[in-house]
Amino acid sequence: MSQNKEELQVAALKNGTVIDHIPSEKLFQVVQLLRVENMSTNITIGFNLDSKKLGKKGIIKITDKFFGDEEINRISVVAPHVKLNIIRDYEVVEKKEVQMPDNLYAIVKCANPKCITNNEPMPTLFHVIDKDNCVVRCHYCEKELNREDLTIL
Ligand SMILES: [Zn+2]
Repeated sequence: MSQNKEELQVAALKNGTVIDHIPSEKLFQVVQLLRVENMSTNITIGFNLDSKKLGKKGIIKITDKFFGDEEINRISVVAPHVKLNIIRDYEVVEKKEVQMPDNLYAIVKCANPKCITNNEPMPTLFHVIDKDNCVVRCHYCEKELNREDLTIL
């Protein structure tokens, strides 16, 4: 029953991407990370939907949008187990889970006030050194940050 319900929540999209299993408290950060406000296609955002696994979850449906890995994997910084359903002609043609990328380019801010990225107009770059625990190291000043320390740009 609840399986059918979950399928119904994604059924209305003809072509595009459904981003599912977003913890509700992370939904708006994910929206921000994906730059959803700059998109011009039809977008549905569901907040506090019932989820067996998460209790409450968020979901984002974006019409006619197919993300590149780099574009979508940035959301792993705030929500590591998000699922993607790629929809073509009303059918799920691909399912995947977001992966922590090897590098974070211009996504998060360095916490070191002396870091060059905080003092020059330049993008940040972090190397992901522990994907399971989301530990990253600044390319420029070598400051290490955990998920809790990350500030999204
Ligand atoms: Zn730095």
